[in-house]
Amino acid sequence: MEPRTGVQWSGPQNRKYLASPLARRIVDQSGLRFNFAKSRGNPDWRPVVRSEQVVYQLGLTLKGISMNIILFGAPGVGKGTQAKVLAQEFSIPHISTGDVLREAIKNQTPLGLQAKTLMDRGMLVPDDIMIGLIRDLLGSDRCKTGFILDGFPRTAAQAAALDGIFAELHIAAPSVINIEVEETEIINRLSQRYVCKNCGAITNGEVDHITLKDPCQKCGGVLYQRDDDKAETVKKRLDVYHDSTAPVKAHYESKGILRTVNGSGTVEEITGRVLTALKRA
Ligand SMILES: [Zn+2]
Repeated sequence: MEPRTGVQWSGPQNRKYLASPLARRIVDQSGLRFNFAKSRGNPDWRPVVRSEQVVYQLGLTLKGISMNIILFGAPGVGKGTQAKVLAQEFSIPHISTGDVLREAIKNQTPLGLQAKTLMDRGMLVPDDIMIGLIRDLLGSDRCKTGFILDGFPRTAAQAAALDGIFAELHIAAPSVINIEVEETEIINRLSQRYVCKNCGAITNGEVDHITLKDPCQKCGGVLYQRDDDKAETVKKRLDVYHDSTAPVKAHYESKGILRTVNGSGTVEEITGRVLTALKRA
């Protein structure tokens, strides 16, 4: 993209033009520089309303920030939260394998029907069906401007298949973002995660300053801790995660497209780090 005329480099003094609070926080905390363009016939600096446009503006200096994102992270690193923020702010689909499967079954696509038959028999959905579903989605209009893959690929074989899909559909190489948090912090976070028996709301004891004895903040129901979130189980889940994703990480590391982001801090701080990582990629 060629810099347009009327573009002014901007520092913190112009941050007021970033209309979305999230956009402001991202720019503040990531240290990214941004700029504004005077649109033709409009004497005022164009206010930037969404982070999407922040990146559009940043694009003048970033030379093509990639919105083809593969997101990695152990349970409890806040990967789902980041995926949601990025999907919403940049208007790109958040693709998680569970959702893809549910949607295909709901829409009764040929692959969805195949998957349903297997699942009804209590069988696992094999790789080729899952890869086929992801391929259909990546090739659709919804993914034209980018996407966030969450929870896929999980194996080196899936990663290789995904490379094939990207080549076949002429999709630009993805940025692979790996969010990492100290194991002790993950255990601390997850072991304070409580679920409401009544409404299913999830709260975090540390963030919301509550204990298991307190009632649900939404409905007053009784809180409990899932077996999955007990400290010993979390430790085991993390070991399984690291063992199974190590080959996938190695796959992307060898291609030089894996970026590791520190997942400690506020949601905005982490989003800022993710954007900075996308910029370098
Ligand atoms: Zn509740």
